[in-house]
Amino acid sequence: MKKWEKNVRRVVPYTPGEQPNQSDMIKLNTNENPYPPAPEVREALRTLDTDELRLYPDPSANELVSAVAEVYGVKKDQVFVGVGSDDVLAMSFLTFFNGDKPILFPDITYSFYDVWADLFRIPYERPLLDENFHIRKEDYFKENGGIIFPNPNAPTGVAMDLEDVEEIISKNQDVIVIVDEAYVDFGAQSVVPLIEKYENLLVVQTLSKSRSMAGMRIGMAFGDAALIRYLNDVKYSFNSYTMDRTALAAGTASVKNQEYFKKTCRKIIETREWTKKELKALGFCFEDSMANFIFASHESCPAEELFQALRSRHIYVRYFPEGRTSDYLRITIGTCQEMEVLIAFLKEYLGQRQISGNR
Ligand SMILES: *Cc1c(COP(=O)(O)O)cnc(C)c1O
Repeated sequence: MKKWEKNVRRVVPYTPGEQPNQSDMIKLNTNENPYPPAPEVREALRTLDTDELRLYPDPSANELVSAVAEVYGVKKDQVFVGVGSDDVLAMSFLTFFNGDKPILFPDITYSFYDVWADLFRIPYERPLLDENFHIRKEDYFKENGGIIFPNPNAPTGVAMDLEDVEEIISKNQDVIVIVDEAYVDFGAQSVVPLIEKYENLLVVQTLSKSRSMAGMRIGMAFGDAALIRYLNDVKYSFNSYTMDRTALAAGTASVKNQEYFKKTCRKIIETREWTKKELKALGFCFEDSMANFIFASHESCPAEELFQALRSRHIYVRYFPEGRTSDYLRITIGTCQEMEVLIAFLKEYLGQRQISGNR
C-alpha cells in the first residue's frame, strides 16, 4: 500500500444496472419508462438558445421549482431540485443524518442507501422486512438518528398504506424521516400533503421513472421550508449549479404536461396488471406490486437460470444474487408488446424444461 493511500476515502460503490446496447434487446432491468417524454420536452430542447450556454444557469432553478410547486400545490420554498433523486438523496443524507444514533432503513431496499451511509460515515441499522417482504412499522418506533425508506419499496414493489407511513413519521418527530417516492405515481399514495403537518418529513421524487426522463437527471424533494433551506445551504456549499440549462428547460416542460404523464402511467399500470396475471399462470409468485416492476420468483425454476436464459435471448431483467433476494427477478414493465414477447419466451422455456424433466 502506498503511503498516500491511507488518506484515501475508500468506498464500495453502488453497482448500477447494466446498460447493454443491442438493436433487438428488450430492456427490463433498470425500471426505465418504455414511453418517450412529453412532446413539449422535445420542443424545449429544440428551441434551447445555445448562445446562452456561455452563461451559468440559475442556481435557484426558479423556473423548474415554480413549475413543480404549482403542479403539486405546494409553496416554492417547500421544493428542492437536484440532478436526479440520487443527487437529492445524497444531499439529504449529508444534511440531515448527522447524529450519533444509527439511521434506519430496511434490509431489502434501494441499494444506494448503505453506500451513502458508508460514504458519509453515518451509522445505520437495517430492520428485516417480514417473510412476505413487507416493512414492519414497529421496527421504526425505536430511538434512531433518522429514517429512510421507499414507498413503494424497491426492489419488492410493495406499498405501505398512508396511515402506516404517517405513523412512522408521527412517532419520529425528533428526527428526519425521508420517504423516497421514486415509484409512487404507479398506484401508491403520496405523503406530499403531509409536509404541511410534519416538519420532520422530507418526500423525494424523480422525473426518471414516471416521467420518462432518466437520461436527463432530475429529482426533487418536498418538505417544510426550514428543511429546504438546510438542503440549499448544503447544496450551495458543494456545487451551486447542480442543474444545467438543458435540464431546467426540459424538466419544466415535462412537469407542466400532467395529462401526458397520467396517460402513460395508466398504460404502464394496465400492462403491469396484465403481466401479473400471465406470470401467475406460469407459476410465478410475487407480492402485489404498486411500482413499474414486478419482483417475482418461480415455483420450480431458479431465478439465476431464468435470468441467464432471458439474457441469451437479449431480454434483460435485474437479478440480485445475494441473500434473501436470490430467488427473485425484478422485471420492469415495458410496453405491452415487450411484455408479450417476455411472456411468450417464458412460456416456451418453462414448457421445454418440463418436457425434458429438467430438475
Ligand atoms: C431509481 C431510484 C432512485 C433514483 O432515481 P434518479 O434517476 O436518480 O432520480 C431513487 N430511489 C429509488 C428507490 C429508485 O428506484
